[in-house]
Amino acid sequence: MSKLTDDYGTFVSKLQRIAAERCQPLSGTFELTGRCNHACSMCYISRPVSDSAAIVRELSADIWIEIARQAKDEGMLFLLLTGGEIFVLPDFFEIYRPLTGMGFLISLYTNATLVTDSIADKLAETPPHRIEVSLYGANTRTYETVTRVPGSFKRCMKGIEALVKRDINVGLKATITRQNVDELDAMQKMARHWGLPFTASWLLTRRADGMPSEIEECRLTPSEAIAIEASDPYAVEEWCGGGVVSKTDNFYCQAGRASFVIDFTGAMNVCSDFPAPGAKVPDIGFRKAWEELRRFVEGAPKLSAECLDCDVIKYCAICPAWSYLENGKMAGSVDYLCSIAHERKKRYESQK
Ligand code: SF4
Ligand code: SF4
Repeated sequence: MSKLTDDYGTFVSKLQRIAAERCQPLSGTFELTGRCNHACSMCYISRPVSDSAAIVRELSADIWIEIARQAKDEGMLFLLLTGGEIFVLPDFFEIYRPLTGMGFLISLYTNATLVTDSIADKLAETPPHRIEVSLYGANTRTYETVTRVPGSFKRCMKGIEALVKRDINVGLKATITRQNVDELDAMQKMARHWGLPFTASWLLTRRADGMPSEIEECRLTPSEAIAIEASDPYAVEEWCGGGVVSKTDNFYCQAGRASFVIDFTGAMNVCSDFPAPGAKVPDIGFRKAWEELRRFVEGAPKLSAECLDCDVIKYCAICPAWSYLENGKMAGSVDYLCSIAHERKKRYESQK
């Protein structure tokens, strides 16, 4: 049994470890839509709001609720609702409200630009466990250079304020690109101004659907990225400890053991970055889809010989999803991750 002194993060990690040992789908992500009202060049998923081919493939509220019911029976506790942008869905609250009565710890990812007072009021009636708002800059010029939508910065600020005013548990997470990296401190200051927790991520992945991506113009150089990472003591501790990759498991994360993603068409996948095996939950039911995902993860190829022999593997985050997205096969080195791993080694070993 967990000690009362454990903090929440440690407690959740323990739960996830236990769930992974039991192969229980503890953490689910429902990607309710692939559509978004922004057009960010680094995005791995976004389609235009008016994309009619995507709209017709989206699931109805009833189907999402039924999937959630089946997932609950199999042991899901943590549920993330994300997109695309969840508030482009006119029936979002027809999905959200019933889910809040099912005992899940629900998190929402949003860019907050569509959060009006009326939406914030509805959220405040049955607040989620947490809302994470993506941030793309600290002023109009930078933010809208990334989102490519005029007026989006102001709408984001108003949306965040509407949530904060209602005491909803909000965190800000900045996606760092070459276009906004100089505003990292300013974005952190914005979070402090509202008294909100702040995180920043810079590891940008290619589009999972194979559509063209402008990622090369957005990714930080390895030295820029590791300079940011080095200011986070938890990240440094992780990399200076044993690292993350296991030489025996192909997937070192919880995917297919304690976590899953269901995309807007109802396909269950490894994670948002890896659209496989695509087990159709509405057709075969949650349990069979989960079994298919587990078989897929267990059968995935092991690390390549090159990675197993690599002298910077403890500084690397290679996984089958990265190999697949960058090189089209599920094992093998990834140039961007190699250069990041070498940069980590240089930086962290010189600090010892
Ligand atoms: S990107 Fe790789 S490590 Fe991350 S969740 Fe997907 S499979 Fe796991
Ligand atoms: S991706 Fe590159 S750095 Fe990472 S383990 Fe493989 S060879 Fe090493």
